Amino acid sequence: MRHTRHGWWLEEAGDVTPTRPLEGDAAADVVIVGGGYLGLWTAWHLLELEPELDIVVLEAAVCGHGPSGRNGGFCETLWGDAQTLREKAGDAAALTVCRASEDAVRGIGAWCEANEVDAWYRQAPMLRVATTESQVGSWDETVRAASALGAPEEVVSVSAEEVRGRCASPLFLGGALYQLNATVQPARLALGLRAKLLERSVRIHERTEVTRLGRDGSVETRSGRVTASSAVLSVNSAAAGFPGYRLSLAVASSHIVLTEPIPEVLEEIGWTGGEAIVDSRTLVHYTRTTRDGRIAFGWGGGTMGFGSRRVDRLELAPDVIARTRESLIRFFPQLRGRAVTHAWGGPIDVSPTHLPIFGSRGRVHHGFGFTGNGVGPTYLGGEILARLALDRRDERTRLAIVEPDRKLFPPEPFRYVGSSLIRRALLAKDAAEDAGRRPSTATSLVASLPHRLGLRLPR
Ligand SMILES: Cc1cc2nc3c(=O)[nH]c(=O)nc-3n(C[C@H](O)[C@H](O)[C@H](O)COP(=O)(O)OP(=O)(O)OC[C@H]3O[C@@H](n4cnc5c(N)ncnc54)[C@H](O)[C@@H]3O)c2cc1C
Repeated sequence: MRHTRHGWWLEEAGDVTPTRPLEGDAAADVVIVGGGYLGLWTAWHLLELEPELDIVVLEAAVCGHGPSGRNGGFCETLWGDAQTLREKAGDAAALTVCRASEDAVRGIGAWCEANEVDAWYRQAPMLRVATTESQVGSWDETVRAASALGAPEEVVSVSAEEVRGRCASPLFLGGALYQLNATVQPARLALGLRAKLLERSVRIHERTEVTRLGRDGSVETRSGRVTASSAVLSVNSAAAGFPGYRLSLAVASSHIVLTEPIPEVLEEIGWTGGEAIVDSRTLVHYTRTTRDGRIAFGWGGGTMGFGSRRVDRLELAPDVIARTRESLIRFFPQLRGRAVTHAWGGPIDVSPTHLPIFGSRGRVHHGFGFTGNGVGPTYLGGEILARLALDRRDERTRLAIVEPDRKLFPPEPFRYVGSSLIRRALLAKDAAEDAGRRPSTATSLVASLPHRLGLRLPR
């Protein structure tokens, strides 16, 4: 098994030659800090709005080599957050956000087609399943929320039989179908976007870490400076390292293992429809198939980060990979003895509400907090940030995820200690439920703390 930082998707997508780092001073209309999906979609949408705009992207490593090139490739809507949105913003606003997130999922497919980027975009419903009795019905609230918003067809309960008809895992006890969803090869999407922006003359400087960001939109690196009318901060979990953002997000981690091609196993279990599948625990398992007949299987149960640091330690976590492999076999016992060829992981930017957050501080416009659901929503985020950067207001900038009420995490070291304790309780709770036992009262109490505090963990 190759356990690397970058993972298989980037290997499959092929090498790119890094662009030149920034040397000296430069000026631009908009400077974008961070070249993952969010920064790159922002650049794309800026050009859609104003084709002549002069845009500089500064990327600490290589665009798309962070989580954007290494994720599970679930391209989701925000329907899973419908109830939270209703509580925060009311029904009309919640529906508008969910519909805008649908536009994003479709928009990515349309973009791939129009730009001839083969990112393996494939639309198929997402299945949220129960793998223990305690998880059965955990989707009811979302099903009810979709119905209350007048869109009962978007999230539908399905029986154990129907779930197993789509994918015959012995663990699946029922579930819900999220109608609009797609999967992508995430690295092909990120690198395709990077290539198209270079074609459109966006100045991308890689291996260029931003060390200071002024509210006036000025940006400093170790070897230069950019002055611009607007700056966009799109650095994912690294936002926690920028002044003013330290309490806005927490950093968790997620990890993936990938099997060798096993098309005959997929046939045997009837999993040929391309459905993305998540279970219903707090630290979710998520799994999907690939175009060449593999299973990618991930787990959001990795360790927590301290502030924005220790990301390297989060990425390479052999113990987490070992547990993820064990879960893969529990889901699909047919894979015993078959090779797991690759493993990797990366940081997750956890927002207090589970919803992404967009907004402005002076001339800096930010987006973060995707909480493990960024592939689809970063497209929408790019539309929002492009408008904020140009000081244009329309239905996108009026969405309830723009300048939401501020909810903060506690400062370090309390955040790290608290979130690590909660993670441990969640692991104990999940292990007890997997074994058909009731978790202890103390475990249940600690595991329920995020919910009681109004905080939502990945998925
Ligand atoms: C293992 C894993 C699985 C996931 N699975 C899914 C999934 O299936 N579906 C889904 O929707 N989401 C998933 N996610 C989350 C998803 O990948 C992210 O939400 C999404 O990629 C966020 O895009 P981004 O542009 O905000 O961040 P990133 O892709 O992290 O891009 C941010 C960029 O900023 C750069 N940067 C950081 N600091 C600086 C600095 N100081 N100066 C300059 N540049 C800087 C980084 O190098 C990076 O390239 C997963 C994440 C992980 C780690």
